[in-house]
Amino acid sequence: MIRETRKIKSQLAIIGTGLAGLAAGIFATEQGIKTTQVGHTGSVTYTTGYLDLFGSLSGQQYSDPWQGVDELKKEYPNHPLCQIDREEINVAMSLFVEKLTEMGVGYLKPGSKNLDALLPSGVCKPTISMPLTMAAGIRAKKTNASTLIIDFIGLQGFSGVEFVANLKPSWPELSNKRLQFPGMESGQQLFPEVMARSLEVPENRRKLAELIKPLINGFEYLGLPAILGIHLPDEVHREMEGLLGIKVFEIPTMPPSVAGIRLREIFEQRFPAQLITLIPQHKVEKLELTDGGARLFFKDPFGDVEIESQAVILATGRFLSGGLAAGQQSIRESLLNIPVSQPKGRDDWYSEKYFAPEGHGINRAGVEVDDNFRPLDEDGRPLSNRLFAIGTVLANQDWVRQRCGAAISISTAYQAVKRVAGLILDSTIDSPGKSGKISSPAR
Ligand SMILES: Cc1cc2nc3c(=O)[nH]c(=O)nc-3n(C[C@H](O)[C@H](O)[C@H](O)COP(=O)(O)OP(=O)(O)OC[C@H]3O[C@@H](n4cnc5c(N)ncnc54)[C@H](O)[C@@H]3O)c2cc1C
Repeated sequence: MIRETRKIKSQLAIIGTGLAGLAAGIFATEQGIKTTQVGHTGSVTYTTGYLDLFGSLSGQQYSDPWQGVDELKKEYPNHPLCQIDREEINVAMSLFVEKLTEMGVGYLKPGSKNLDALLPSGVCKPTISMPLTMAAGIRAKKTNASTLIIDFIGLQGFSGVEFVANLKPSWPELSNKRLQFPGMESGQQLFPEVMARSLEVPENRRKLAELIKPLINGFEYLGLPAILGIHLPDEVHREMEGLLGIKVFEIPTMPPSVAGIRLREIFEQRFPAQLITLIPQHKVEKLELTDGGARLFFKDPFGDVEIESQAVILATGRFLSGGLAAGQQSIRESLLNIPVSQPKGRDDWYSEKYFAPEGHGINRAGVEVDDNFRPLDEDGRPLSNRLFAIGTVLANQDWVRQRCGAAISISTAYQAVKRVAGLILDSTIDSPGKSGKISSPAR
C-alpha cells in the first residue's frame, strides 16, 4: 500500500533540538511565530546544566566575561559573540533563563560576573548561570563552609572521593561519605537518571533523607550528585532541604547528565502546549530551499512527512550531533552541503600539542554567516533570505575551550528569530538571495 505524504505547514521550521534549537523555539513562541521543530537526540543531554557566557581565551580564564569578550574581539573578530551587541546577548540569556524557570527548571539570573561552578571531578569552571539546585555549592566553596559530599555505592559518573581529593587543598572543610541508594542495594551499577526518577517519588526522598540524617551532625552544607528529580527539581530540592534541615546543592555528574535530561524533557513536555509542533527523535533527511521558504522531508513510522515553511533555522550542531561531517580530506555541512570554512588541509586540523592554548583548527571550522545569520555560499553571498544558521554549527568559535557554548547558542538563536519575525511580519524585506532551488545533495 502506498501511503500519501503527510504535510505540515508552518511559518518557521527549526532543525535541531540542542540548546540553540530549543532557545530558538522559545524565542519564536515569544514572537508568536507558528513553528515546527524537528530534532534528534543531541548533545543537550550531555551538558552539565551550566549556561556559559564567556570564560576562557588562549589559556586565560576570565571572571568578568565581558573583559574576555573584549579580548576575543581583538583575537577573533569574526567570532559569533563579536557580531552581537552586549546588551542583546544579555537580553537573550536573561529571557532564556526566565522562560526555563517558568517552565519548571529554575535557573539563577545571569549577573555581570562569572560564577565558580563545580565540576564532577572536583575542579571549577567559569559560568554565568546555573540551575537553582546547584547554586548553594558556590557559596559553600567560597566560604570554605564545612560540607559533606555524599556519593553512592555503584554510582557511575560521580565519585565523592575524587571530588573531595581534588578540592580539599582549596576547600579544607570538605568531607565525603558513601551510602547505598535506597531500593538499589544490590551493589550493581547505578545511573544518575534512574536515581533521579526514583526521587520523584516522595517515599524514596524520605528514605534517602533517613539514611543521610545521622551523618550531617555539624555540617553546614550537603553536596549530592545531580539526582534530585527530573521534572520538578526545585520542589525535590526544597523538600530534601526541609527533611534534612541543611542547605543542599547538586553537583553535575559526567554525561549523560540529569541536568541535560531535565532540559530535554521540559521542552518535550511544554513545547506542544505552545505554538510549536515538536517532532523529537527524528532527523530531517532532505532540505529544499525555495523562493517562498523551505521544504523539509523525513520519515516517521507512519510514512513520509513534508514540512513546508516560510523560513528555516539550521541548529544542527557539530560532529557529535551530525551538523558537520568530517571526510578523508575535508569537512562538510551535512544537510545542504553549505560551504564550511576550515583549515586548508587535514594536516592542519589539529595542533601538535593537545593542550595548545590556541586550540585546534578543526574546532573553529563551521558555516560562515552574514550579519543576519544567513549562511553564505562560495561567493560570500547569502544562500537564501529565508535560511538562518545558529549555534555551534557556526564557524570562528571554539565553544568548549572558550567556555561559551550556551551564549553562542542562545544569543544567535535570539538574533535569527528576530530576523525571521521581520521576514514573516514584513514581506517587503523578502527578496530572494538567489534564484532557483537549492536542495540537499543526493545521498
Ligand atoms: C559534554 C558536554 C558538556 C557541556 N557542558 C556545557 C556547559 O557546561 N555549559 C555550556 O554552556 N554548554 C555546555 N555544553 C554545550 C551545549 O550543551 C551545547 O552543545 C552547545 O551549546 C551547542 O548547542 P547546539 O544546539 O548548537 O548544538 P547541539 O547541542 O549539538 O544540537 C544539535 C541538534 O541538532 C540535531 N540535528 C543534527 N542534524 C539533524 C537533522 N538532520 N535533523 C534534525 N536534527 C538534527 C541534533 O540531533 C541535535 O539535537 C556541553 C556540551 C557537551 C557535549
